[in-house]
Amino acid sequence: MKTPLVAANWKMHKTVRETLRYAHSIRDRMPTVNDVEVVVAPPFTALHALAGVFAGSAIGVAGQNLHSEPHGAFTGEVSANMLKEAGAGYVIIGHSERRHLFGETNETTNAKLHAAIKAELVPILCVGETLAERESNETFTVISRQLESGLVDISPSQATALVVAYEPVWAIGTGQNATPEQAQEVHAQIRKRLAQILSESLASGCRILYGGSVKPNNVHTLSTQLDVDGALVGGASLDVESFLEIVAKSRATTV
Ligand code: PEP
Repeated sequence: MKTPLVAANWKMHKTVRETLRYAHSIRDRMPTVNDVEVVVAPPFTALHALAGVFAGSAIGVAGQNLHSEPHGAFTGEVSANMLKEAGAGYVIIGHSERRHLFGETNETTNAKLHAAIKAELVPILCVGETLAERESNETFTVISRQLESGLVDISPSQATALVVAYEPVWAIGTGQNATPEQAQEVHAQIRKRLAQILSESLASGCRILYGGSVKPNNVHTLSTQLDVDGALVGGASLDVESFLEIVAKSRATTV
């Protein structure tokens, strides 16, 4: 049985001071059970401070992005080892905002995945179609390509910790989540594709998260779908009460 994973993606929100306030509150109130894994991805500037507060707790810390090179003249970028040493155990890769606002491609995503695996960070690989792609029935083609190109030269043994997040672009930050049926349909396809690209056993053990307007009032029906193994939460993770409720509902419904 897979332990569900609930990951908070703060995007460009919260200063160090705001992070510390949130971190103490959530650490003290997070139930000490191990039937759900919880990870928070703050901005880079707050990562080390957040990891300090979460040290010794079961809550993990993630980078929101990384550069594929270990070091060099890449102004504004952060490497896998820098994330690791600052306290991250996970990293989000290929988020649609990175793809659509910052020109990341399936190829750069693949290079980042290699860098994360080399540094022993758990990669959370994001895939998802735009509204235009869904409306022209290209959802599975787009996602299949994102998986195939994103996983080039990654062996099953390198991908044992891999997490995939299905995040339909039209659902991110819009308040319009995928229906549980839409999510389940795509998650099942992702699992099938992972079996072809990597292996059957890896695909069945891989956690596939749903992301896109997850809220306390919809997480239950989304997370009870057979192939939904947790959630990647943006806006609703910024508030302690709402994130705790999402974690509690993910736990109660998916184990
Ligand atoms: C995200 O940015 O990964 C996300 C899912 O955002 P939101 O929950 O706000 O739609």
